[in-house]
Amino acid sequence: MNKTKRTAIFERLRQSNPAPTTELRYNSAFELLIAVILSAQATDKGVNKATERLFAVANTPAAILALGEDGLKAQIRTIGLFNAKAKNIIATCRKLVDEHGGEVPRERAALEALPGVGRKTANVVLNTAFGEPTIAVDTHIFRVANRTGLASGKTPLAVEQRLLRLVPTPFLHDAHHWLILHGRYCCKARKPNCPNCPISDLCEYRQKTPADLKTTPAEPMSQPVPELSDRAIER
Ligand code: SF4
Repeated sequence: MNKTKRTAIFERLRQSNPAPTTELRYNSAFELLIAVILSAQATDKGVNKATERLFAVANTPAAILALGEDGLKAQIRTIGLFNAKAKNIIATCRKLVDEHGGEVPRERAALEALPGVGRKTANVVLNTAFGEPTIAVDTHIFRVANRTGLASGKTPLAVEQRLLRLVPTPFLHDAHHWLILHGRYCCKARKPNCPNCPISDLCEYRQKTPADLKTTPAEPMSQPVPELSDRAIER
């Protein structure tokens, strides 16, 4: 895909959503960090429900440590893998208090050293809480980048590095949110909504969903696109 097309794609995405952001609700870098840790293999809606309860009683590392692991579990038990997540969050809060004065660090290495935080979570926090031009490749971005031809790659890291190189600078900071939202609501895994896609004429995916699904049989897949499950995407 050439630069003109890439630029046009982001211009269209910007046109339909000039100020994209995360659907996770948060009021501080710490709340965002906790919400992102909780969001692994969970919906943003489910996370928001749990964090609304949790942050009303504890929204600082010290307050969550005071809740204790069992107290924290009681607040987040509606979320999948809550036992493991509670353990990681308690350990992360302990590290934030002991090593960072209770603040969320702004450096990638320090973020990735926190329990339950991997490259993807660090990228979300750096981008959304601190305004850094990072791209956290989740299952949606991985799919959209490969299908459209924006940035193909076999692993999330390969796609991330390609996107960082190829996304035109004015769009770099918000590319993360545009691509996630596009994948979540339009370029869906099973049935991409190509007939109503704002970038359909620019997208290089050869098996676009036809306009009339009822009368047009599904085409055999001749353009394989790597798919990753949430499990395969690192934290
Ligand atoms: S045209 Fe279809 S495959 Fe391409 S980005 Fe849009 S929804 Fe996805």
